Amino acid sequence: MPQLGFGVFQVPDAEATAAVETALAAGYRSIDTAAVYENETGTGKALTGSGIPRDELFVTTKLWNSASRAWTRDAVLREFDASLERLGLEYVDLYLIHWPRAVRDDYLSIYRAFEELAAGGRARAIGVSNFQPAHLERLLAETSVVPAVNQIELHPFLAQSELRALHARHGITTEAWAPLGQGKELLSAPVIAGIAEKHGRTPAQVVLRWHLQLGHVAIPKSVTPSRIRENIDVFGFTLDDEDMTAIAALDSGTRLGPDPDEFD
Ligand code: NAD
Repeated sequence: MPQLGFGVFQVPDAEATAAVETALAAGYRSIDTAAVYENETGTGKALTGSGIPRDELFVTTKLWNSASRAWTRDAVLREFDASLERLGLEYVDLYLIHWPRAVRDDYLSIYRAFEELAAGGRARAIGVSNFQPAHLERLLAETSVVPAVNQIELHPFLAQSELRALHARHGITTEAWAPLGQGKELLSAPVIAGIAEKHGRTPAQVVLRWHLQLGHVAIPKSVTPSRIRENIDVFGFTLDDEDMTAIAALDSGTRLGPDPDEFD
């Protein structure tokens, strides 16, 4: 899985094709979508029309395990088929449970259907998103395939040390959503601006470097071509220990998105 990918949350389907085409042209090979983003069709068009060999692409989508239906094994398999159909692909590289929705108490049975998909090869890898330590511990205890990835909200304001340590113990890849803090206060924080100036880079590049140096997978989103290119141009410099320590001090545990223990 490439360490740097491209996310398409909140990109309308009609704009997703152009955004993903720009990303592919800029060198991204990993694309993160989800059924609930309603842009799998536009995303898939860019992927299948790119001429890039399928095995050079890494495509992630997610099951929106909403309240609108009972997630029986068959419902999960049908929803997976629908995602593949919209994407125009024969397999995805990674299929994620979008939220634990623990109050529903069905993520174990959903994950067992995911295990079938992995065994059949149409989901090359399976994983979860927004799982808290307790959800992960339970999944690890009661199912057989260790999730390849837990995709979580993660940025310098929410450094997620407990989850990162748990992932490391179990060989689970930590994938950061909102890696740029959704482009809000984080990118104008004086500490980030100072480090950016020191390296002659932009705040977004500094934050992405922080992710890469900590070993996270990061999937920044943009629809602006210059930013799409800027966000992948992060392999030509290195943050030093002083920079990493200064960024670590920004962790305030502040979430931008919902609390996964409560979100349903
Ligand atoms: P992000 O941190 O990637 O921020 C994106 C925003 O930052 C853009 O809309 C833009 O306003 C700004 N931005 C981007 N590049 C910039 C640059 N170079 N300079 C200045 N501003 C810039 O936030 P995100 O989109 O929420 O997260 C990234 C991806 O993670 C999503 O697209 C999606 O694929 C995934 N995601 C997953 C979940 C989940 O529940 N699993 C939730 C949210 C997002």
